[in-house]
Amino acid sequence: MNETLKVIEPTIFELSRPGRTGTLMPECDVPERPTAELLPGVALRNELPLPELSECEVMRHFVRISSLNYNVDKGFYPLGSCTMKYNPKINDQAVLMPGFSRVHPYQPEETVQGSLEVLYRMQSDLAAILGMDAVSLQPAAGAHGEQLGLALIRAYHEHRGEGHRKTILIPTAAHGTNPASAARTGYSVVDVNTNERGLVDVAHLTAQLEKNAGKVAGFMLTNPNTVGLFEEDIETISSLVHGAGGLMYCDGANMNALVGTARPGDMGFDVMHVNLHKTFSVPHGGGGPGSGPVGVKAILEPFLPVPQAAKRDDGTFYLDYDRPLSIGKIAPFYGAFLAVVRAYAYILHYGREHLNEISENAVLNANYLRVRLGETFPVAYDRICMHECVFTLKDLKKHGVKALDVAKRIIDYGYHPPTMYFPLIVPECLMIEPTETESMDTIDRFITAVEKIALEARDNPQLLLDAPHSAPVRRLDEVGAAKKLDLAWSPVGHSVDAVSVS
Ligand SMILES: *Cc1c(COP(=O)(O)O)cnc(C)c1O
Repeated sequence: MNETLKVIEPTIFELSRPGRTGTLMPECDVPERPTAELLPGVALRNELPLPELSECEVMRHFVRISSLNYNVDKGFYPLGSCTMKYNPKINDQAVLMPGFSRVHPYQPEETVQGSLEVLYRMQSDLAAILGMDAVSLQPAAGAHGEQLGLALIRAYHEHRGEGHRKTILIPTAAHGTNPASAARTGYSVVDVNTNERGLVDVAHLTAQLEKNAGKVAGFMLTNPNTVGLFEEDIETISSLVHGAGGLMYCDGANMNALVGTARPGDMGFDVMHVNLHKTFSVPHGGGGPGSGPVGVKAILEPFLPVPQAAKRDDGTFYLDYDRPLSIGKIAPFYGAFLAVVRAYAYILHYGREHLNEISENAVLNANYLRVRLGETFPVAYDRICMHECVFTLKDLKKHGVKALDVAKRIIDYGYHPPTMYFPLIVPECLMIEPTETESMDTIDRFITAVEKIALEARDNPQLLLDAPHSAPVRRLDEVGAAKKLDLAWSPVGHSVDAVSVS
């Protein structure tokens, strides 16, 4: 690699000069009062080492650090399970309309009829897309949706006098949020094995249902599942679980494989979440704001949280709090409203007739990648996949190289790495999700890059072990970064240094 010339940028603290300012305040035209009179003493901090900068310096600081970040507007982002599709800018244009962006949550209902109508229509459009009877738009993320869905299952069983059902079955391949949400909702988790075809082991499911007879509240299943395969036995699975008195929860994070083509509600699922920041093209903005609406069948509808957007006979819209069996409030105000507006614009942009093109192209792209990249790295379960494909890189061990090293080297070729080491049941895996928004040219270039990396692994493994060579930071201490996360800027030392290895 060529050494890139590193310009050492002064930090905003080094740039700071006493009295330098970026704002022009108007002359004070009210009597001045000491700050201590206006703010309680505990809120007063005199020793804050805030930098003093001009507007230009502040602008450059933020633009510079934002451009260090990788994003879907910059390049291909095949992070499996996350559906990092391109976010059409028409969605943002909808959000910029002042009728949406300038409303206040405490405004009287008659002044926000348009916004309430969007919530109402989104509830019914999403219900139609998922094959459900009702939808709550309140959850702020997929994991929050899981927790709501499980709380609804709990409310349902308690209402029927079966509150003793305290067990949730979850496949071993599931996303980590599934068992976490179940545990947080007070459930104990029982594992269900994945068979050699990458699907739910129905015999093991049957055995677990028998072993936990009378205790099962539900089965939490991702479909297509976390190895990117459609659960072909889904109807058998649903009737087994229903027969045991449990409900079927669908982790709908992989809805990009189904949208417009198939509906979880038709497969026997009673409740599910969907991630608007995955399937419905809402940006994954630095960890938020996301949105994880939950759809339910009629049996769970009475328990949905308040408020629900509703329509009166005279055609006006309102927020319905009069729901006696509701589990109550789960989020401030009305959910991530502008995320809902973006997703609604996206759905309208495709329309009922074209939504299926999303899933068809997502699945086609993933299968193209599966077949072509399958010549370089074995596919974990070598069959037609849905919207993503899992490869195992365990053969690289003979060169002393791991999936992690390949992922880091992918950064040098200008791409975001795929998901690594998930699902946990596949050794040394990379999970690649190209999404429908990528052209064949982009996918071809990516495949060529990974093919070159496979050759490098054989000929010059050190290149991979030291990667990335071109990124603003090199290898990070990933455990430290997760366990001792420190994102606060401090004038004493950069926090980034605190977690970097080299
Ligand atoms: C992303 C994802 C989740 C969690 O969704 P968040 O919106 O990140 O909370 C759950 N399950 C699967 C399979 C996912 O891919």
